Amino acid sequence: MNRRRVIFLGPPGSGKGTQARKIAEKSSLLPISSGETLRREIREQSEVGRLAANFVESGLLVPDDIITGVMIAGIKKLPSGTGFILDGFPRTVPQADALQGGLAAMSMSIDAVVDFELDDAEIVKRIVNRRVCTKCEEPYNLESRPPKVAGVCDICGGALTQRVDDREDVIMTRLGAYRAQTAPLVAHFARQGLLCSVRANRPAHEVEADILAILESPTSK
Ligand code: ADP
Repeated sequence: MNRRRVIFLGPPGSGKGTQARKIAEKSSLLPISSGETLRREIREQSEVGRLAANFVESGLLVPDDIITGVMIAGIKKLPSGTGFILDGFPRTVPQADALQGGLAAMSMSIDAVVDFELDDAEIVKRIVNRRVCTKCEEPYNLESRPPKVAGVCDICGGALTQRVDDREDVIMTRLGAYRAQTAPLVAHFARQGLLCSVRANRPAHEVEADILAILESPTSK
């Protein structure tokens, strides 16, 4: 891969997590999901988890300083030279500035931002059909990617569940947060020459092929 430090941007349910996992299987890039990080902190009842829980469960963004602190600390711990896909972070302009400042201080920079484009009706349909493994967080979709055995993860055998924030009332709050706080990042990264868009409303293997082509394209640096 020519592009090894990558951000996946896009509305909830647009397939960022699914694609991050698929690309990781075919490359040395490490998927790092801010949502999974927060849910783990909440399960472990850490300080960050206690501060974040109400925001996550009600579909609001966690305050910038909390998420930025935990994500940049995670990146700092990676062995040097590790390539990564950030799934769900940054989600606001201040988060992007903090991330890029933090990377610059480590002599690193972002090589590409992949924007997943999907309309609201499809987002809601996908999220209400989403189920995730309680153990490994592998995502499923009751319509487009059902598990082989109902309610059981194909990969680790864990029980599948619906996330509390995947209920229809909470989805609307998350979509509102996306439009108000995250969507401005599209223009922000376009101005930096980093933005590459994919049409996410297609079969997963087609979206994956587009992303692989983006990651294999040469960087301008
Ligand atoms: P999705 O991409 O399907 O919305 P995530 O698992 O990425 O789901 O995020 C779940 C929740 O975690 C968000 O609704 C929000 O409360 C919190 N969260 C995740 N990433 C961030 C972030 N970068 N900034 C603020 N809150 C975040």
